Amino acid sequence: MAKYEPVIGLEVHVQLLTATKAFCGCANQFGSAPNTNVCPVCLGLPGSLPVLNAKAVEFGALASLALNCEVRERSIFARKNYFYPDLPKGYQISQFDKPLAENGWIEVPTADGGTKRIGITRLHLEEDAGKSLHEGFADSATHTYLDLNRCGTPLAEIVSEPDMRTPEEAFEYLTRLKEIILYTGVSDCNMEEGSLRCDANISVRLKGAPKFGTKSEVKNLNSFRYVRAALQYEIERQIELIEGGGRVIQESRLWNTAEGRTYSMRSKEQAHDYRYFPEPDLPPLIVTAEFLAETKKKMPELPEARRARMIAEYELTTQDAFTLTSTPEEADRFEAAAKTAKSPRRVANVMLNEVGGRLKALGLEQAQSPVSMAGIVLAADLLEEGKISSKQVKQLFDVCFEKGEDFAAVYEREKPQQITDTGALEAMIDQAIAANPKQVAQYKGGKKTVAGFFVGQVMRASKGQANPALLNELLVKKLEG
Ligand SMILES: [Zn+2]
Repeated sequence: MAKYEPVIGLEVHVQLLTATKAFCGCANQFGSAPNTNVCPVCLGLPGSLPVLNAKAVEFGALASLALNCEVRERSIFARKNYFYPDLPKGYQISQFDKPLAENGWIEVPTADGGTKRIGITRLHLEEDAGKSLHEGFADSATHTYLDLNRCGTPLAEIVSEPDMRTPEEAFEYLTRLKEIILYTGVSDCNMEEGSLRCDANISVRLKGAPKFGTKSEVKNLNSFRYVRAALQYEIERQIELIEGGGRVIQESRLWNTAEGRTYSMRSKEQAHDYRYFPEPDLPPLIVTAEFLAETKKKMPELPEARRARMIAEYELTTQDAFTLTSTPEEADRFEAAAKTAKSPRRVANVMLNEVGGRLKALGLEQAQSPVSMAGIVLAADLLEEGKISSKQVKQLFDVCFEKGEDFAAVYEREKPQQITDTGALEAMIDQAIAANPKQVAQYKGGKKTVAGFFVGQVMRASKGQANPALLNELLVKKLEG
């Protein structure tokens, strides 16, 4: 394996969130009854003519700009001809040699803490095909059903340069790409509903070899984890093949999740197999400077910029900032709460560790959380003011999740006892100091962080009821004295 270098490029399809389809007025809607959102245009009936949806162009341009692409002033729609049961026209309207946008890039974090720039070859607009339903019916063993609602819904296909060298890099690229697209609002990137799909091209070559090896393409991967696993499998398969004296052939393969391997699907078609030619029913697409300028104005703050600003504004750790900006909704929720709280950093902490941690452990979604953002702010403020200890907060959140109640209600009812009696606290501190002479010596030797050890000791002795602010103050006095 060490002799070889993998070369990976990704093609990502994102469904655009337009109200109507790319070339007709049918609703672009997931989950409708089968074959209800169809008309002569998207069914390809003779004599019907496509009309381009301006919103699809705006969304495509917005995504292109967010991915640092150059938007072509003049792009051309083309017919990509192939036969498939869920493609009634016998061709797909796509873009070929003159796509909407080219020459972009995004940056992905690397294992050593740096970043790597991954090139984006192109972003083009196209229409989706329908869906063949192979299961779910009594006679599914012998019949395939067709749902043509998806025919003609608008897609942006984003093709990367073959710049990735490890499955991990591919995973990072997809994570960042999805995040950027989500922030632009042009797609919901819902992989379960198929609004984000990925094909992965992968080849291996001897390290230092000037030319790429023959690639295989793994089609229709609908989870980033599957992409990573399929790439890992393909790298090993291709190296084994070459080492055994064989040759990799150019083909399309499918990932089988249950078996953890890829299967040959068909030999890979070349561009000329599709007989591309300019779509005669659509004029060239002209994106004017004015249209582009108007689109630019609609660009929201993108994830990387938002992270940098939130770290500076709220003193967040990089890790917390990444988690809080994973979706724009999560970032909005945090920012709204942080503005009303005494310490934004504590809000982040409670939100991610206490509430987020419990949701994850229980397998619940954010929307199912019993604790509101107001509850999170209240808990963070009480902690910040030293009115409750972190142990008490944990106990209260346990009750919230057990009984499905918000934090304020639980706090009001349980009002945790606090020891604020100076004498009692001092006695416990004295005991901790007497029992741990080694740590006292360390503290006096300059290792001030040992104070945290004593806080822990007294907290344990007080069953978490010591007033944290008062405890800290008294402890430092004793240790310094
Ligand atoms: Zn239609």
